[in-house]
Amino acid sequence: MTDEARAERMVLLCKSLFDRGYSVGGAGNVSVRREAGGFIVTPTGSCLGRLSAGALSVIGADGAPLPGPKPSKEFAFHRALYDVRPEAGAIVHLHSTYLTALSCLEGLPRDNAIRPFTPYYVMRIGHMPVIPYYRPGAPEIARDLAAAAQGSKAQAFLLASHGVVVLGRDIDDAVNNAEELEETAKLQFLLRGETLHYLTEAEIAELGGGY
Ligand SMILES: [Zn+2]
Repeated sequence: MTDEARAERMVLLCKSLFDRGYSVGGAGNVSVRREAGGFIVTPTGSCLGRLSAGALSVIGADGAPLPGPKPSKEFAFHRALYDVRPEAGAIVHLHSTYLTALSCLEGLPRDNAIRPFTPYYVMRIGHMPVIPYYRPGAPEIARDLAAAAQGSKAQAFLLASHGVVVLGRDIDDAVNNAEELEETAKLQFLLRGETLHYLTEAEIAELGGGY
């Protein structure tokens, strides 16, 4: 896929996320790797529902921004994740309703915010470490994300009192992972107070999960 095609795909899927309420206003940001190194990133202050392929931010293979719109300030933590997870081709960061609600709960397990109760969470996400709260833009977010992601198979990280960061092989995979994860968080809230059947260790292992 050419960089132009990647940018078009990114715009299409970001609009789809926005249209279905996964992102509101200027919240959230998305990036993909470019073919020859570097990244295509949603611009600072942009709305995921109103992007255009010719007006995205581009970071060169040397890490310097190319002339054009400035990338999202939160790209710093995307970059930290790409550095430690070379297999990741795209990153989606959302303040989606149910995952953000989950991120605001006190006492979440630091190693995995959602105890698996569906196979899809295990197959798509594996597990979801929780990164402590820092003010938006704080460099500690990138530092802690890199530390949690290094050597891990986790495809998502929950930022306390903030939102979620989701990885994928490419933009389609990252968006699918984000949608599955938001649905899982929604189910968890819907089932609050019910007796849940959690997957056993053996059932998780059978799906290739665990960590
Ligand atoms: Zn954010």
